[in-house]
Amino acid sequence: PGEASTSEADCKVCVAVHVRPLIDTEAVEGCQSTLQVTAGQPQISCGQSYTYDHVFGGGGTHPDLLYDRCVMPLVHGLFRGYNATVFAYGQTGSGKTYTMGSAFNAGGPARGVIPKVMEAIFARISSNKDTGFTVRVGFVEIHREDIRDLLVLDPRAQSAVHIREVAGGGVCLAGATEKEVGSQAEMADVLAQGSLLRATGSTGMNKHSSRSHAIFTITLEQRREIPGVAAGAESGSDDEEAMGAGETEYLCAKMHLVDLAGSERVKRTKAEGTRLKEGIDINKGLLALGNVINALAEGKAHVPYRDSRLTRMLQDSLGGNSRTVMIACVSPADINLDETANTLRYAARAR
Ligand code: ADP
Ligand code: MG
Repeated sequence: PGEASTSEADCKVCVAVHVRPLIDTEAVEGCQSTLQVTAGQPQISCGQSYTYDHVFGGGGTHPDLLYDRCVMPLVHGLFRGYNATVFAYGQTGSGKTYTMGSAFNAGGPARGVIPKVMEAIFARISSNKDTGFTVRVGFVEIHREDIRDLLVLDPRAQSAVHIREVAGGGVCLAGATEKEVGSQAEMADVLAQGSLLRATGSTGMNKHSSRSHAIFTITLEQRREIPGVAAGAESGSDDEEAMGAGETEYLCAKMHLVDLAGSERVKRTKAEGTRLKEGIDINKGLLALGNVINALAEGKAHVPYRDSRLTRMLQDSLGGNSRTVMIACVSPADINLDETANTLRYAARAR
């Protein structure tokens, strides 16, 4: 069954599985839990058994552990200039939004990955007085291969958002809002505002949000004066300052926090017309992401970023020097067994 190695050092993509508890509606229906998490091992059995980098939940793991083990290292990397992507994959109802904290209400308690990332970023900024920081956030969703800016409240003010390649192999979103934020509270407000807009999208309600990918992006810029000898105190014999003393060092990196569309298969008998088309477009993004992650995991020379908007937008933050964490979210309930098995397989293929 699968690969035996759980060493993270040689993994391009860190893969974690998050098993949520049975929820009330499942308990009421008399659902049974079908997943077996091997005690003390990052291993899950559901017919077949798979090994991952980490398995959380499924019996008493602390909620902060997922952040501490998988995401905190990426926040540290962000301050060293490394781009990062964290994404939650799984069927609708498996706990993606809960895990990412992407429907975070600014007034409520900090739960999920995004609020914890915000807290960590501003804690680190306030403890470092020698560096000037600028933090900007953007929040978009991709629905049927269209990119919508979730920070523009008035639909008439929406402008077309395009993916643009910039010098040095980077990508940016032309036409999307980026808000500068000066505190954790301000950043939380932006998240709350965008997630409200996502939930009340034109198609309305949950169905829309379960079919779109929501991408919250944090860009961190740092400027630091390189300490040097005071002007006039030099010996005069140096033609160049060794480390560019007195100059400003500039570092910029970004982190994408992605709440993916539901991975459930569209049932052809039930979906027709527009809905079927939607299903196909979403599968296109998820399929392309799976292929990109797989190519990275296998160290292939060609990584097919260009196959979807989602992978094009994330291309400078997946692979290369950037760090990627995939969180596969699953329900333990027997009624979800087929989709859970699909998710476990998709995740196993990523490492
Ligand atoms: P998704 O975004 O994948 O559709 P949600 O995050 O909305 O799924 O989760 C579905 C339901 O399960 C919600 O009621 C949520 O509160 C609950 N839930 C998800 N994950 C957990 C968890 N780890 N612990 C407790 N409840 C959870
Ligand atoms: Mg959701």
